[in-house]
Amino acid sequence: MENVLISDFDGTITRRDFYSLVQDAYMPESAPDYLELCRAGRLSHFDAMASYFAFTPTDDAALHALLSATEPDPDFQTAVAKLRAASWDLIIVSAGSCWYIDKILAASGVTAVVHSNPGHIEIGRGLVIKKPTSSPFFSAEVGIDKAAVVRDAAKRFKQVAFAGDGPPDVEPALLVRPHLRFARDFLAHELQRRGEKFRSFERWADIVRGIV
Ligand SMILES: [Mg+2]
Repeated sequence: MENVLISDFDGTITRRDFYSLVQDAYMPESAPDYLELCRAGRLSHFDAMASYFAFTPTDDAALHALLSATEPDPDFQTAVAKLRAASWDLIIVSAGSCWYIDKILAASGVTAVVHSNPGHIEIGRGLVIKKPTSSPFFSAEVGIDKAAVVRDAAKRFKQVAFAGDGPPDVEPALLVRPHLRFARDFLAHELQRRGEKFRSFERWADIVRGIV
C-alpha cells in the first residue's frame, strides 16, 4: 500500500463512544465527571477512560447490546475494501480499548492494525484496561500517542490522511495536509477555532469517498 488513512475509532468509525454508552446506561448520576477532571488536569485521559470502563457490565448479553449500540458505519467493510483497492491502508488509533475495537472489527468483517489500550472483562471490575507500555507509540497520558503514529507513517507512506472527532485527535490532525484532514464534532470545532482547514464528514464512508 502506498498511502495510509489513520483513523480514530469511537465517534469516527462508530456513531457513539463506548465510554459514553457505559456512562449513560450503567453509571449512577452521582458518579464524577471523569473527563471534566481530566480537562482540569486532575486525572490523566487514560485514568478517566479506565474509570468509565470500570462500570462496564460483564454479562454477555449486556456486552453484546453495548457493542451494537456503538453503531459502526454500516458501510465500514465496503469502504475499507474500496480504500485498499486504491492503495490506501487503514491504521486505527484509539484512546479507548482494543477489547471492544477488536470485537467490532471482527463483527464488521474488517482487519486492520489497531493501536490502543489492551483490555479484558473481569467480573466485579468491568472492562479493565492496561497501558500499552511496550508499544513504540506509548503515551502515559492517553495510552497511545496518535501524533507519534502519524509521524511514523509519514516516513513509510507517500500520503497520510487522518480522521477523528475528539480532543486527542487535534495534534495528529494538524500533522497532515488539510485536504487529507477529516473532522467532526469537537475536533471540527477546535480546528475551526484555530483557523485551520479541514474536511468535515458525517459518517466514516464519507472520508473514503473524499480520499479515493
Ligand atoms: Mg473519537
